[in-house]
Amino acid sequence: MNAVPATVYLVGAGPGAPDLITLRGVRALEQAGVVLYDRLTHPALLDHAPAHALRLYAGRAPGAPGDDRQETIHAQLVAHARAGRTVVRLKGGDPFVFGRGGEEMLALAEAGVPFEVVPGVTSSIGVPGVAGIPVTHRGASTAFAVFTAHEAEDATEGPVDWVVAARVPTAVFLMGVERLPVIVSKLIAHGRRVDTPIAIVEQGTCDAERVTTGTLGTILARARDVRPPATIVVGEVVEVREAVRALQAGQPAWRVPAALSPRAHRGAAGATEVAARRRA
Ligand code: SAH
Repeated sequence: MNAVPATVYLVGAGPGAPDLITLRGVRALEQAGVVLYDRLTHPALLDHAPAHALRLYAGRAPGAPGDDRQETIHAQLVAHARAGRTVVRLKGGDPFVFGRGGEEMLALAEAGVPFEVVPGVTSSIGVPGVAGIPVTHRGASTAFAVFTAHEAEDATEGPVDWVVAARVPTAVFLMGVERLPVIVSKLIAHGRRVDTPIAIVEQGTCDAERVTTGTLGTILARARDVRPPATIVVGEVVEVREAVRALQAGQPAWRVPAALSPRAHRGAAGATEVAARRRA
């Protein structure tokens, strides 16, 4: 065993497409002796690692018990680093957005293993972005929040702060496909208008990307065959995508600046008025 452990790189792989990893992430992979990768990381990324590098799958199926698995991952990271192997812990999106990267960093610090964090493009921003939905937009959204709809013990009361989710201009939900009915009903119960736009982006940034849009009132009927992985975006910003598409199709779209002007954000009623006029 080496006196000084090798470094562990906690690397964000980006949201799907394999060329959305950072240059720093690729450089870390090129030095790796061991790569521990997750389920939602593109297989082509492993090609950046040297041929001799160990490639270990560290993912789990959604809903499977995670805590023992997480302890095992910590032990593997520490053991390989102590054996002098440079380790890349490759995680989908950004390591610190619902990726348990913080726990791994703490375990490494506790074990005295050096580490570096290499951020990634998180699906919570990058997936809507590639689909034409900015998470903030002047006049339409001055803030966004990202929620997981997944870890709930009970199907009706999850870890989501629904008061916040219903009030923040843009609410992004990860791991939410199975819980879409709960998301919709909770947001409405907490005061979000039924005509609030919503988009679901499946396989974002990938060739198989599919976007389903609607309102909180219509989305359940439209999204019956939506499958994970998908990112759900709730808020007026979804209208930006619709506006862009109309403009690209050469349609005399509603005037974008007017429709998404600060008026639209004065209050829920104002926003609805604008949206209704726009659709008329
Ligand atoms: N750390 C990751 C998120 C991990 S949680 C990040 O920053 O992106 C996994 C969830 O991310 C999935 O359930 C899904 O909601 C979202 N996701 C990951 N890849 C996606 C993709 N290609 N398209 C849409 N959503 C995706």
